[in-house]
Amino acid sequence: MYKLKVNRNECIACGMCALECKILQEDSSGKVEVVGEGIIADSEVGKVRNIVELCPTSALTLTEEFVNAAAKLTELKEKMQKPLTFTPPSADEYDFRLEDKDEYAEAITGSLSVSGEYEYDYSSSSSAESAGKAAFRDEIYSQAEALAQQVIVMYEQRRLNKVARYAETNGNYKYGVHQRLIKDLRSFVNESESYTGKKISLPSDFFTFRTRDTDYINERQDHSNDWLAGRIKEHLKPASEFYTCVRTDRTYEYVTVSHWFGDDTREKKYSYAYYIKPDSVARFYRDVARATWKAGKYTKQFCERELERFHKEIAQEWNEKISYLLRQI
Ligand code: SF4
Repeated sequence: MYKLKVNRNECIACGMCALECKILQEDSSGKVEVVGEGIIADSEVGKVRNIVELCPTSALTLTEEFVNAAAKLTELKEKMQKPLTFTPPSADEYDFRLEDKDEYAEAITGSLSVSGEYEYDYSSSSSAESAGKAAFRDEIYSQAEALAQQVIVMYEQRRLNKVARYAETNGNYKYGVHQRLIKDLRSFVNESESYTGKKISLPSDFFTFRTRDTDYINERQDHSNDWLAGRIKEHLKPASEFYTCVRTDRTYEYVTVSHWFGDDTREKKYSYAYYIKPDSVARFYRDVARATWKAGKYTKQFCERELERFHKEIAQEWNEKISYLLRQI
């Protein structure tokens, strides 16, 4: 039997061979690698010899080796029936950690502003302060849920996507599992054909998996609005705890005052404004991130459930494909 080998140091990732030869597969750098043991079915030897000759850097070699096909087939069947194993990302990679709070807080900081700041419309410091507190409550504090939603979206983008979503990019966990299993399936089919000497007819979707949905994200998005509305308030400090961020300012002008007993006089007239201290508001943003973390601690469990579901479904699909292949050999 013939075996195909690749000298990866010589491969320049030109992509010519992988298109033509089903037991060669490109890795993320574009260099090719041999799927499985690289055994070439007798019927394919002529075609593969041509591919080897066309490689511009002579990175491919085809060598003849003695192979005990019957023993190899038994070995292969045993290998095919081994249960799947998975190495999911550790929870550190997708969990929302309290240490991340400041980073999330910084990302939402400054996204809200208060109207009416520094408008000297008030006749006393206390009335300006009351107006400032009301402005803080109505224009900043009331946005806590929307801000929490932003934190959750960032959290999903930064951490959860690689576990929860299916994306055809390196580093995406689900995509990685698919790639590995497709590679194994190709290798099993190739070896089965080589050891039995017969061409196996496969369904057109044999090398694809159905588990590509993003149920998690859809479920999560539907869920998060209701959930946030209900839970964020439980964990957020009351608005009054942030009122220290409201300050007042005073200015004056000279006005003419008429007196019933005599001459007019010019007197100072004070007016007051409120302003919101940005560094104190940052405390509120941090509290939103903290409250989101507290309310959202369940996302780790949610994520683990999603991984469990994915593993179960993909194992089921895998078993169906392996059973099909075993029936053909
Ligand atoms: S033809 Fe040769 S250089 Fe090009 S991808 Fe294949 S092995 Fe690499």
